[in-house]
Amino acid sequence: MKNWFLALALFVTAGAWAQPKVIAHRGYWTAEGSAQNSLTSWSEADRVGCHGSEFDVWITGDNRLVVNHDRVQKGTDIDMTTATAREIRKIILPNGEPIPTLDAYLRLAQSTPATRLILELKTHPFVREDVAVKKIVRRLRRLGLLERTDFISFSLNACLAFRKALPEARIYYLTGDIAPKAVKNLLLTGIDYSMATLRQHPEWIAEAHQLGLEVNVWTVNREEDMRQCIAWGVDYITTDYPERLQALLR
Ligand code: MG
Repeated sequence: MKNWFLALALFVTAGAWAQPKVIAHRGYWTAEGSAQNSLTSWSEADRVGCHGSEFDVWITGDNRLVVNHDRVQKGTDIDMTTATAREIRKIILPNGEPIPTLDAYLRLAQSTPATRLILELKTHPFVREDVAVKKIVRRLRRLGLLERTDFISFSLNACLAFRKALPEARIYYLTGDIAPKAVKNLLLTGIDYSMATLRQHPEWIAEAHQLGLEVNVWTVNREEDMRQCIAWGVDYITTDYPERLQALLR
């Protein structure tokens, strides 16, 4: 019995001491020469030693997968969900790169094994999400990247489709509208909620940990917010400024 308590105490204190891991939001796009979700943003996140680099995935009108944040690209009428990949590839990002296909993104990730892939599937009609999940899983498996990938989505349908396809995968829900207990019941790995949500529900952090769930927070850019997240003892912090956070953690 005594040993059991000792083990529990060690586990709890180790958890409290562990520093949050740094995740670059849409890649390290605030670095020089970078742009959101560009191949360079992945390379920059890898170069500075982020734990993981987050990126956004759409399934196109012709069933291809592309990496971009907005559904309709600013300054164009090109919609990721209805246009063809060929049309989308003509969009040039602020750093001069075309919007990457998921395939190009994954091949780059293959050559930089230290950084985890934090793959966000954007919200689509459910049937499209289901098709996207199947294609993503097939691709990651073929490229040997499944174990290096965490899955996130604002869509509960997408989270559950990933869970159905991948019983062992790490899957986190983004929307922040349900308590950790509900996330646990859905067999997800953790919550990945906004700073605003966690300010409203700081008790969810301890609740999540007690349930064996992990806690990630987005998008934390101000130093005082970073300090707050570190004090809360979250497991991951997602930021547009990974080097700012790394300096704080040092
Ligand atoms: Mg995202």
